[in-house]
Amino acid sequence: MSVTALPLPSLKVLVAAPRGFCAGVDRAITIVELAIERFGAPVYVRHEIVHNKFVVDSLRAKGAVFVEELDQVPDGVPVIFSAHGVPKSIPAEATARGLNFLDATCPLVSKVHRQAERLVQQERHILFIGHDGHPEVIGTFGQVERGQITLVETMEDARTIMVADPTRVGFLTQTTLSVDDTAEMVEELKRRFPLIVGPKGEDICYATSNRQAAVKAITEHCELLLVIGAPNSSNSQRLRELGQREGIKAFLVQRAAEIDWDWFEGISTVGITAGASAPELLVQEVLALLATRFELAKEEVTTTIEDVVFKLPRALTN
Ligand code: SF4
Repeated sequence: MSVTALPLPSLKVLVAAPRGFCAGVDRAITIVELAIERFGAPVYVRHEIVHNKFVVDSLRAKGAVFVEELDQVPDGVPVIFSAHGVPKSIPAEATARGLNFLDATCPLVSKVHRQAERLVQQERHILFIGHDGHPEVIGTFGQVERGQITLVETMEDARTIMVADPTRVGFLTQTTLSVDDTAEMVEELKRRFPLIVGPKGEDICYATSNRQAAVKAITEHCELLLVIGAPNSSNSQRLRELGQREGIKAFLVQRAAEIDWDWFEGISTVGITAGASAPELLVQEVLALLATRFELAKEEVTTTIEDVVFKLPRALTN
């Protein structure tokens, strides 16, 4: 007796674009790969080069060694600083030890570092909107002296924060925040400190804003959002939150294997996106797994075409 396979249930999939790798992540990964080619393995990397386990494991397999602190780097081997940026003390320490170091800090993060220095030169106290403990925040705080910068993490902080001279204040922001939340906090700071200066809008980078706008464009048409990204990736978490705020179920997965099929109960349309440090390969892995359970009707929803490319350090291109 022949057994006829039942047809798979249908599922509409809206794939947000842009998604995944940004120019800063692409550059940081290329720096590690080129450094291994040029100097030979091992090449040390201080902190995860970008917040993605798959990327880190792939680079480790090629000869990168990831450490948290510079004192774990032996003398005489090259070391790379991650895309999130580092406090000034780190390159200073590397120079003092005579280490050959390469800085993979995203140029958009370096721009915030320079803005911080400028505000201090203008004798302004910096109010920095960001998440406590994130490496980018640690790096930016490390550009100025303790006491010259204060973290503003929540709307409540923005409403209550006190400064010695309210007429000499500046604000800066982490690059990977929620566009909407940050706009509200900036508004509140401007209301409380009318003479505050800061970047036009905020420092949220093009990749973070574009990925959030792309998710907004699909959430009204789906009941479930899957964000491919790491739990410690700030921009990935903001994408997941955005889905939840739009009133749909939203989950962060690092790999396809983390998908829980219960999430699909009663779902006819799913949205897919990926954080700025998640490779496209992982998006395709999720789509391939979905295709084993559903008859997929895929549609890519593009809100912007990105063409940003950052230059590599001269030490790797000469
Ligand atoms: Fe640079 Fe933005 Fe990418 Fe961070 S998310 S590495 S700031 S482009």
